[in-house]
Amino acid sequence: MLIDTHCHLYYKDLINDLDGVLSRAKELDVTRFICVGTNITDSKACLSISEDNDSIFASAGVHPHDAKDVSDGWTDAIYELMEYESMIAVGEMGLDYFRNISDPDVQKKVFRAQMRIAQDLNRPVIFHNRNADADVIEVLADYPEVIGVAHCFSSNLDTAKAFLNMGYYISFSGNLTFKNSHLPEVAKAIPLNRVLVETDSPYLSPVPHRGKPNEPGRTRFVAEKLAEIHNIPFEEIAKHTTENAVELFRLT
Ligand SMILES: [Zn+2]
Ligand SMILES: [Zn+2]
Repeated sequence: MLIDTHCHLYYKDLINDLDGVLSRAKELDVTRFICVGTNITDSKACLSISEDNDSIFASAGVHPHDAKDVSDGWTDAIYELMEYESMIAVGEMGLDYFRNISDPDVQKKVFRAQMRIAQDLNRPVIFHNRNADADVIEVLADYPEVIGVAHCFSSNLDTAKAFLNMGYYISFSGNLTFKNSHLPEVAKAIPLNRVLVETDSPYLSPVPHRGKPNEPGRTRFVAEKLAEIHNIPFEEIAKHTTENAVELFRLT
């Protein structure tokens, strides 16, 4: 049994075929899902999807790309969303200096505000980091009581170690399976009690579906790749990653 710890189920192609998406996932033994919000509107959509389905949990947050668009009261909206039982984390938050869709100073401000919410509510965070290793580490270090997950990890081993040392988990997505990726070498060094798997659907479809719209069932291919990297049976990776997700997000 696997948990897709990061998917965006409110995207049209996924939500319009949710029953099909979930039953195809079940065939691949992916049975629980975390629907991650990237702005207030989408976080509300995650909440309503999760309220309708016991196997789906949700998070509320503002993605660095959306940081430029926050309106007054956005932090209150996250606090309100976090009151619901199916809401298990704050995020996705973070920094993306690859695309810099929001100004870096705005990204940092919105990231910090969400770290404060997580600290205040004693909830885990889901963070996104692209080409921003040093600044992400600096922000995380300022909130030492908070833990969470480095979603869609794509940095180097030193950065992974910095996150691990601060108590964070490392989550791998489809890019772990890409040809010539540096990530298998990194993944090999991550302790099995600190690793998670995800799809980031509808993005980043793993091999053998690379380039096509992704869906949560394909967490399976990420987990199989991890098993191959660690040279252990798939069932063992499934057990570890599921236990880790249950513990981090306090799933019931
Ligand atoms: Zn992301
Ligand atoms: Zn995402």
